[in-house]
Formats: sequence, structure tokens, C-alpha cells
Amino acid sequence: MISENISNAIEIVSSFIERRFPVDVECICSELGITIKDNQSLDKDGYLICQNGKKIILISNRITNRHRKRFIIAHELGHFLLHRDKLYSCDHISDITQENINSQAQEKEANAFANELLIPQTELKKHIPIAPLTFSAIFDIARVFDISVTHAAMQAITVSNAESEVLICYDNHFRKWYLSAHRYTFPRMVPMKCPVDLPSVAAATDITGAWTELYYGSVHQEVFCPYGNQYLVLLSGNHR
Ligand SMILES: [Zn+2]
Repeated sequence: MISENISNAIEIVSSFIERRFPVDVECICSELGITIKDNQSLDKDGYLICQNGKKIILISNRITNRHRKRFIIAHELGHFLLHRDKLYSCDHISDITQENINSQAQEKEANAFANELLIPQTELKKHIPIAPLTFSAIFDIARVFDISVTHAAMQAITVSNAESEVLICYDNHFRKWYLSAHRYTFPRMVPMKCPVDLPSVAAATDITGAWTELYYGSVHQEVFCPYGNQYLVLLSGNHR
């Protein structure tokens, strides 16, 4: 559920730019008279400067991932439309951060705005299958909204039509985070160490018995490796 502040800010954007997807964040900045300067030598991920007639978004040269850069621009746009102070310095801004490292209310609100701008809940729901989620559906969502597959998977699982699904991220076989629309999925049910050897399994497979803490009977498992030793595991079946 998005707040009234965020809906109002999105409405402002919609009043001067046609809401097509993927959203053109650079075009929104240009319409608002905001200059984007990336590849900057900065101590933080991004800055919004709104002072003495200047409106500038600065992005650190450490941010090389295109999707993360898009998210940071959307985040700073959130500060511009929602907070209107003179200067923001923002760190730990990521499209795929499960926990909100920066707990400040305005940072959370800017992140919520960025998500709603890039991948609005009502638009996202149009792309969610009635049947359990698959990576094929998630790849389509990532393409339509021009976001990373991990970001698409994280957003999709929260509005999944099959409540029994779980998305788990394993890094080097150890659990990094998990998300589920199922109210009764508790941390103790999601193995800290992955019970299957992820590099050796097929992308989509039925595995019975490996996820006994979470499911009974057969389990549909899909695996996707976004980068390095990081694996996304999508599971569905009869939830315990
Ligand atoms: Zn911020």
C-alpha cells in the first residue's frame, strides 16, 4: 500500500510525462530542470543539490550497474518531489537491498517512491501469472520495466497470486535473504544452507524432500544465477 504523499508525487510526474514503461527517468529530470551528473568522485552513492537555482543529481563513479543507477536517479527524484530540502546525500541506495540499511524516514520514503515510479504495483500486477511465478514471467517483468531480474523477482513475489511461493537468495550456498507472500513463512523454515547443490541443478526442476521444513510433497524449484555465486531460488508447492 503506497502512502498518499507518494501517490501525489507520482501524480505530479504523470501530469507532465506520459506514463509509459519502462519509465524514462532522464526525461523526467530534464522536464523538471534537473541536471544529472554521473561518474562523479563522491563519498556517497548519490546527491541531490537544490540550491541557488541549481538542481543537480550527482551519482558516484562506484555505481556502474545501469539498473542501480536508474534506481538512484528515481530515489533522488523522490527527495526532490517529496522533501524539497536543499541538499541530500544518500548512501546504500540499492534496487535489490532486502533490508533498509538506512532507516531514516525520508530515505525509506525516497526508496518507496523510486519503486512506485519504476514498477508501480497496479502495473506489476498485470504481469503476474495466475499460476505460480516462474523466472520466465520475472524475465518479462524485468524487460518491461527495465529493472534487474533480482529487483523484478523481489517485487513480483510480494504480489504473487500463489501464496505458497518463496523466493530465496543464496550467496555461496548460504542464505542472504528470503521473501514470501505467505504469512506463516518464518526464518527457521528457510534453510540457512541450501539443501540442494545449486550449481549442479537444472534451472527448473521438481525436487521432492529437499525443502521439508517449508513444503510437503513435491516442490517446484527454479534457480537463476544473477551473478557470481549468488543464486535466486523460486519455490512453490504445498506450504507447511
Ligand atoms: Zn536519499
